[in-house]
Amino acid sequence: MERFETRSIHAGQAPDDETGAVMPAIQLSTTFEQDAPGEDKGYEYARTGNPTRAALEANLASLEGGEFGRAFASGMAAIDAILHTLEAGDRVVAGNDVYGGTHRLLTQVYDRHDLETKFVDVTDLDALEAAMTPDTELLWLESPTNPLLSVVAIEAAAEIADEYDALCAVDNTFATPYLQRPLDHGADLVCHSLTKYLGGHSDVVGGAIVTDDEGLDDQFGFVQNAAGGTPGPFESFLVLRGTKTLPVRMDRHCENAAQLASWLENHDAADQVYYPGLDSHPGHEIAAEQMDDFGGMVSVEFDASLDETSELVAATEVFTLAESLGGVESLIEQPAAMTHAAIPREERIEAGLRDGLVRLSVGLEHVEDLQADLQQAIEAAIE
Ligand code: PLP
Repeated sequence: MERFETRSIHAGQAPDDETGAVMPAIQLSTTFEQDAPGEDKGYEYARTGNPTRAALEANLASLEGGEFGRAFASGMAAIDAILHTLEAGDRVVAGNDVYGGTHRLLTQVYDRHDLETKFVDVTDLDALEAAMTPDTELLWLESPTNPLLSVVAIEAAAEIADEYDALCAVDNTFATPYLQRPLDHGADLVCHSLTKYLGGHSDVVGGAIVTDDEGLDDQFGFVQNAAGGTPGPFESFLVLRGTKTLPVRMDRHCENAAQLASWLENHDAADQVYYPGLDSHPGHEIAAEQMDDFGGMVSVEFDASLDETSELVAATEVFTLAESLGGVESLIEQPAAMTHAAIPREERIEAGLRDGLVRLSVGLEHVEDLQADLQQAIEAAIE
């Protein structure tokens, strides 16, 4: 098999036979001619399948090292498609710090359909095993997590899921397949918010699922068609454009993030820095085993009040104050006041999300400009 960098550019795509166009066409047609009733050329209706989307699906499957890929209109639509394959009465075990939208979908939508979810600290394998029951059909993992970058031992967790005949799904959004391929570690399915690093330019929303299991893939295809949460051809094209540069972008994201993380770790204003590449990170060894590098996300807890921290994140000039992550531009946010504000303060603090916590999506700008920007914001906000 060709190497990752080559597949990121070519997998699922070839010059067009008729025109020689090197890049895949944005195929806008919603319907496709049939030679005879029921005899199509591979496509019949655009919700069911579309050539631009098919190119993206093949590309993503190749990058995750899986057989089958399915693209969706958002990361949430992909997660929803996975949950759609479960039945009333089934149980899910999920990490206790999964993405808030996943938590909301499980607790405010699927619980109404009698799907019960047990949230547990999945970095503690004994706690994970204790949460599993014969009715557990799905183990839901993220690694690294948001915003504390906790690392889950995917292989060991997938083995536990296997013992209980449950599927193991990994949301690989933070790591990307360039840095971590959960299927190689025993996961049954991988899902993504393509909105983040895979799109890579903060200009497209999308989601995906990759698996080696044809039966599961058929079910996801059924949900794509039956529920209709599929991406349009333009969105599919934009993500395909993004995946071509994923390896070079991720290298720089990792390099910049590692440099900022070690600088911050030695900074007087910082109490704690969360970055899986630091020796001080509790998940460092596992991350070093299951990831090729440590990613572009860094969280730092400043010795600062909620107000001082709000001032800090508003004072940056190169970092943009905004939610989301994974684009070429650096973003800064304050979980306590933004992404995780819905969690009651006491509960939030107990989960380690204190008032002085700041999350950085480290982009591709010159790292010295990023460092200087953080330094001036720290000086402006913290006494
Ligand atoms: N998974 C993770 C880890 C995320 O961070 C997000 C969004 O922030 C999602 C899933 C949902 O993706 P989307 O916003 O594309 O629906």
